Amino acid sequence: MEKCLFCKGDLVDSYSNYMADLDGHFIIIKNVPCHKCSQCGEVSYSGAIVSEIEKIVEKLRDVLTEVAIVDFAA
Ligand SMILES: [Zn+2]
Repeated sequence: MEKCLFCKGDLVDSYSNYMADLDGHFIIIKNVPCHKCSQCGEVSYSGAIVSEIEKIVEKLRDVLTEVAIVDFAA
């Protein structure tokens, strides 16, 4: 099992809400699969998830209102 970079606690599969701030515009992506430390709660994303997040952010950048909330799976 992977270990937390910060406290060496066990990482467990979880979901989290990812938040990005683009020049005062906020993008919130819900239910993003992540690894979460069972000890300190630190969240990390795998490389595939990060590139998926980047794709979603890139897509939303054009149509951005002040706050955009999307579901990762949608
Ligand atoms: Zn930790």
